[in-house]
Amino acid sequence: MDIHLHNTKTRKKELLTPVTPGRVGMYVCGPTVYDRAHIGNARPVIVFDVLYRLLRHAYGAENVTYVRNFTDVDDKIIARAEETGREIGDITAETTAWYLEDMAAVGALEPTKMPRATDWIGAMVEMIEGLIGSDHAYAAEGHVLFRVRSYEAYGALSGRSVDDMIAGARVEVAPYKEDPMDFVLWKPAKAGEPGWDSPWGKGRPGWHIECSAMADALLGESFDIHGGGNDLMFPHHENEIAQSRCAHPEGEFARIWMHNEMLQVEGKKMSKSLGNFFTVRDLLDQGVPGEVIRFVFLGTHYRKPMDWTEKKRQEAEKKLDRLLRALSISIELVCPPSHEFADLPKGMQIGLEDDLNTHAALFSLEQQAELVEGLASGDIVSGEPHQGDATREAAVAFATGLDVLGLYELLIARKQRRLAETSSLDEVHLAFVAHYELAKQNKDFSVVDELKAKLLDAGVEVRIRQGGVDLIPGSNFDPTKLDGCK
Ligand code: ZN
Repeated sequence: MDIHLHNTKTRKKELLTPVTPGRVGMYVCGPTVYDRAHIGNARPVIVFDVLYRLLRHAYGAENVTYVRNFTDVDDKIIARAEETGREIGDITAETTAWYLEDMAAVGALEPTKMPRATDWIGAMVEMIEGLIGSDHAYAAEGHVLFRVRSYEAYGALSGRSVDDMIAGARVEVAPYKEDPMDFVLWKPAKAGEPGWDSPWGKGRPGWHIECSAMADALLGESFDIHGGGNDLMFPHHENEIAQSRCAHPEGEFARIWMHNEMLQVEGKKMSKSLGNFFTVRDLLDQGVPGEVIRFVFLGTHYRKPMDWTEKKRQEAEKKLDRLLRALSISIELVCPPSHEFADLPKGMQIGLEDDLNTHAALFSLEQQAELVEGLASGDIVSGEPHQGDATREAAVAFATGLDVLGLYELLIARKQRRLAETSSLDEVHLAFVAHYELAKQNKDFSVVDELKAKLLDAGVEVRIRQGGVDLIPGSNFDPTKLDGCK
């Protein structure tokens, strides 16, 4: 297995060669916890979840460390606390729980480690002291600032020069800064704001130092992959690199930098003013299941802008129902996912090794589903004496493919929902037939007509024919409305 990933730093696809052979460390910038995650926030989560799952299959689950932080102290959180009159700790605890719940709903595994910034203030203070000691940072008026011009390679990741950045960026000019580009490592706490004691007075860390300190503590001075949305490339990731490389000149910090592109809705940038802004929870509450969200996301390569459209949502529903048939076969044959990379369908191996091409992997998965169905139904006459083994092998590959893309558990839940829907429809059918027979005897069809209207509202068409009644669920079938139809 040779996993190639596009490295933003070198602008090339590179072979993943772990710092420690046989083990992989990955850091992904996590959320600032003050509100529900919008669907754009779910993109890096799903992208790096697929990578995490792939690495676990390739290197063994115990050999992959995936760190994603929670930023639980920040100006936005403090502002939210002031607006609502709530405690900061309540807001961050509630939002953290929401985040984990919503990301689990789209099939994301929890990372190996999920450090909260406020638990690592000591490590941040220590790193800042080191940077002051080596002249890369200076204290001024309760602040500590990073001296950007002390790090020659600043801007290399995003390919900008410091002077261009000053010309183009909204840099904050402040009297205590030596240079407008210098960024905050530590800032003083105003009255009523959360703060920690430090050599520079009571204050709180800047956002960027958080990731540098936690990545260092949990993954070491050199590790394999750092990921995030491409909106974080500058200044956040440039600043992380500057801090970490200056604090640990011997270390490499991250070898490979991966950035996912942004998400749009129906071809437009998502924004509150355009009215096309929604959260993952909004979609789930509207009845768009997690597997559909995930499937739509995986259809676009992570380095391309992704367009969320109603048409794609509908297509995903249909395609997932097709995958369910092959899943049922693999469950019947007791062929659960394997943990081996080599058991993936060949097309998926090739696609995923090539910079995480999930679009190609999905295509291969759909072909594998057809193969499983074909073999199982005996459509393919191989002439081999052990056709049963071929079916089993194909079913294992299919289940493994689903698992690596994070769809296996989600599809099992979809199958269970479908079964529950069918059995509740069966109950409604029995009740309807009983009412219908009674109506024929009494020559009073008012109850039957009422039931028909309710069923129509639930998306079920009633067809009464000679010798029986058929209930036919349509595409707008809503099983939650069946309770009133008995
Ligand atoms: Zn970060």
